[in-house]
Amino acid sequence: MHAIPLPTVARAPFAAPDGWKPLSPTNDPWDPIHSLQRFGRHALTSVELTVTHLCNMRCEHCAVGDSLTMTEAPFMPLDLILRRLDEVEHLETISLTGGEPTFRLETVKEVIVPLLKYARSRGIRSQLNSNITLDYDRYELIAPFLDVMHISFNYTEAEDFHRVGFARSGRSVSRNASSRLYERMVDNARKLSDGGLFVSAESMINFHTYNRITDIHRLIVEMGCQRHEVHPMYPSSFAANLPRVTREQMREAIEELLEHRNKDVWMLLGTLPFFACSADSDERSLVRRLRSEPNLTVRNDPDGRNRVNVNMFSGDVYVTDFAAVPPFGNVKEERLDDVFAKWQAHPMQKAVNCHCPEAACCGPNLLVSDMYYKDVDFLQRKAAL
Ligand code: SF4
Repeated sequence: MHAIPLPTVARAPFAAPDGWKPLSPTNDPWDPIHSLQRFGRHALTSVELTVTHLCNMRCEHCAVGDSLTMTEAPFMPLDLILRRLDEVEHLETISLTGGEPTFRLETVKEVIVPLLKYARSRGIRSQLNSNITLDYDRYELIAPFLDVMHISFNYTEAEDFHRVGFARSGRSVSRNASSRLYERMVDNARKLSDGGLFVSAESMINFHTYNRITDIHRLIVEMGCQRHEVHPMYPSSFAANLPRVTREQMREAIEELLEHRNKDVWMLLGTLPFFACSADSDERSLVRRLRSEPNLTVRNDPDGRNRVNVNMFSGDVYVTDFAAVPPFGNVKEERLDDVFAKWQAHPMQKAVNCHCPEAACCGPNLLVSDMYYKDVDFLQRKAAL
């Protein structure tokens, strides 16, 4: 008797390779707490690469807005970058960022896809930070080799997108043109998610969004995103002079979100100014609640903890977004592990290098401590859950 062949189930075109452990609240290799737990010290496991300074948008809160340009400088040789990545002993993740990384098709074909293929060949997880407002074809070239498509989403309608997304463009952008981009972004997010790609939408809590974050969350869920990342906005670059929200407003926004969120979607909170050692009992109870929420994680900030940023044009290596810290080395002369080790010994990093294992916390990042805790010595504090 002949065996009847079983029907084959079509594999989603952008699904991770067979056998790769899915990204989930219990598997987030970007969180520096894991390497800290494993090695007993911070270790470089993540490299972010700036692959462009071009962008079709000029968002009012852009954290790299001051570095955006109208023309692109030549890239460093890709071989040198790959060699520097090869040397990172514990590399687990890379993130590609800009600007809008897909702005030029040449960058997609000659830089982004080779870097992603390299990551796949080493079993390294990858993330691309994109506004996904350009032609779907570009994202389709990238998606088969990518783990996380990370997008920004801070809107409740096309009108918001127009106001926020072109605030710093220095020229007027018509509502029609911006509506088309908005619709394409929503459409691209749906198509990529449908194709099996992990799409993570990030919103920031700021003066525009803190009382609308629940509506933003609903739209993100409707787009089919697998994760909603929520971070406070910090005053760097274009955002430096925007109005700030207080810690209390931020806490209320997060509590509101917890009441109304869709618990089927992973929620990742990051760079929060709330810690288990807080002197404020409301903040401590929020921290406790966050620890027990289903399908929700609070990620420790990777900057300077397990990650450095490499500028693919100058070769400069940055250890944090914090403006007071200039480039800390250059890939032309130094190995990334060596630059990272120098930073670990620096007084600024040491000043916020606390760790309370019982709270799975490794302290505030420099932007958080500068904005909300200027006179606090975290090394003297302890979690009190
Ligand atoms: S690790 Fe630092 S910030 Fe976190 S709870 Fe402990 S003392 Fe506070």
